[in-house]
Amino acid sequence: MSLKNIICPACGAVCDDIQVEFRAGIIEAKNICKVGNARFKILANPHRFRQPLIKDRGKLKPVSWDEALEKAADILVSAKRPLLFMGSDTSCETHKIGLKIGEYLGAVVDSNTTIGNGPIAMGTQESGKVCATEGQKKNRGDLIVYWGTNPLESMPRQMSRYGVFPRGYWTRRGLFDRTVITVDPRKTPTSEASDLHVQLNPNSDYELISALLTLLHGKTPHPSVEDITGVPIPVMEQMLHMMKNCNFGSISAGVGLSSSIGKHRNAELAMNLVKELNNYTRFTLGVLRSHCNVAGFNQIASYMYGYPFGLDFMRGYPRYNPGEFTTVDLLREKDVDAVFVICTDLLNQVPADCAAYLAEIPVICLDTVPCPTTVASDVILPAVIDAMECDGTFYRLDDVSIHFEPFVSSSFEFTKSNEDTLKQLFKKIKEKI
Ligand code: SF4
Repeated sequence: MSLKNIICPACGAVCDDIQVEFRAGIIEAKNICKVGNARFKILANPHRFRQPLIKDRGKLKPVSWDEALEKAADILVSAKRPLLFMGSDTSCETHKIGLKIGEYLGAVVDSNTTIGNGPIAMGTQESGKVCATEGQKKNRGDLIVYWGTNPLESMPRQMSRYGVFPRGYWTRRGLFDRTVITVDPRKTPTSEASDLHVQLNPNSDYELISALLTLLHGKTPHPSVEDITGVPIPVMEQMLHMMKNCNFGSISAGVGLSSSIGKHRNAELAMNLVKELNNYTRFTLGVLRSHCNVAGFNQIASYMYGYPFGLDFMRGYPRYNPGEFTTVDLLREKDVDAVFVICTDLLNQVPADCAAYLAEIPVICLDTVPCPTTVASDVILPAVIDAMECDGTFYRLDDVSIHFEPFVSSSFEFTKSNEDTLKQLFKKIKEKI
């Protein structure tokens, strides 16, 4: 079987031009990066979960689908304050059912955003958003600033499909019509391929953006900013000159901006810089979201309840307070007593004390292959692979929705999709309350 224009479900770029050869259980993907290729290999991975498992005296044992759903429903219903962690490796349709289960149970529902680019979402709430689609960047963008990210390794095809190399309508010469600036404390393959590498000190993003704004206002920043940021003022002037004099510029921000000291205030200030740059030229800010459908959860949760992540339904209505109702804080404070992890490896993403607490409380996991979270789980439900075995919707990193169709049917008789699994579980939960 030879297929074209398949969607890659591995990262936020959601490439929609993958070619797949699928014969006798062997899958060969083309037009794909290494990260995506590894994801496609899961389809025929011999370690893939083929049946539900329940932990019995420390050992995972195969059980029937009904038994596993029953046990999962029991755990969620008997918990005083469960947490549903909605991973990004599944569709918006699954997220929607997960949010409804969370509301019904009075649980907390969170997603990968909380650990990755949540502060950028919060900064955007403060300052508004001047954004563009990746297609606009491809066709118009002649300057791209990678701030706190290394797409050549984390999202390789963003550069080749949109950001740097492709020939667009007004960028006919591809790379030769574009300038690349990288702002990163580290030397990375992306910084080495850039025209200008602004190598700031770690945790000095806020000061650097403040200095750029000061220069933009026609004033000279205090000389101490050079010691704080490690960036000479002439380099800041050069960077600002490039930003003011392009035709269409964009900042692609990564976790380096949202995780350094300043957090959401960094994103807010960067957005203010972008707004002011629009007095001189066209300028936008977007986020390079490395998890596949993490933007989808933000869209669905905002659409249904008004908040993008970290929703607490304990009082019967949604509340939002990052730092209180977000996963790491809840685990650190031991404020939840059961966790349902859906299509992500949560244990791998949280600090050690949170991981240790996860090992103490009941954990249900919906996943495809073994990972640290499945080791700590009491119930494992096998996951269907979105974009390969079932249809649905992802949101790309620039918040464009992409519908996907399967090219093989679900590997399981008991469920058609992760959405179907959550619907079946929701039914069981309703029978118990
Ligand atoms: S860039 Fe991301 S979406 Fe595109 S092929 Fe690589 S992993 Fe898949």
